[in-house]
Amino acid sequence: MKRLLCLALLTTPAFAEVPKVVTDIPPVAALVGQVMGQLGTPELLLDKGGDEHDLALRPSQVADLGTAGLVVWVGPDLTPGLAQAVTASGAPSLTLLDKGTTLDYAGGGVNPHAWLDPDNASAWVKAIAARLSQIDPDNAATYAANAKTAEAGIAALDAKLAAELTGLKPLLTYHDAYAYLATHYHLPYQGGLAAGEAAPPGAARIAEVQGLIAQGKIACLFPEEAHDPALMATLGPLSAPLNPVGSDLDPTPEAWAKLLTRLADALATCR
Ligand SMILES: [Zn+2]
Repeated sequence: MKRLLCLALLTTPAFAEVPKVVTDIPPVAALVGQVMGQLGTPELLLDKGGDEHDLALRPSQVADLGTAGLVVWVGPDLTPGLAQAVTASGAPSLTLLDKGTTLDYAGGGVNPHAWLDPDNASAWVKAIAARLSQIDPDNAATYAANAKTAEAGIAALDAKLAAELTGLKPLLTYHDAYAYLATHYHLPYQGGLAAGEAAPPGAARIAEVQGLIAQGKIACLFPEEAHDPALMATLGPLSAPLNPVGSDLDPTPEAWAKLLTRLADALATCR
């Protein structure tokens, strides 16, 4: 029976298989999941509650990368710990920051939190569908149709959030991950207290922020779930903590929309 099955597989001409797709963070898993639809479910590397910038692979995950038909990830600017493993695995990869992404530059480097701009999510859905269609041409029509549906969903949510995110007071977040959201929705964003993820805020920046608060140029302080709010709390009352990567979310096709909705709902309290 087993031999017969093998023979059948070997003799099927151009037997195309839906690739096993491995992703880095929940919003990327969500966009891939929307494009794959009923054809498959991508795997996710980031642990629940994990910090994307500190993503380090377990040996089982390294092995998993080696059998991936496609790795879809934001890029080395977000997860430096994944860069070497992706190269070493030899698996085909799609680096999203290279794919039609509108980029924000902060502190001399690229700001990698580009999934927070709906225009980028749309561009990525197109890029994901194109790449999957190359690898699995038999299902190209399905990937293209799913991508169209996904783009329509992104556009609908975008319109809803644009209506919600008007008339906000100036706000500060723990770090400057939200520049994409702020630029897209024209938010009065004063950036992050910390310039980057790794370094704590410097004394000069803290003094600058204190000055802005005194002048009424910052009305709300948003801490982050992955960072101790103690320092920010010395500057004034805190709003609800944000989670820019949705590390607590199940990587379902809805995760990107859930993440954006949740962030917008939190920021919209700054009135
Ligand atoms: Zn970050």
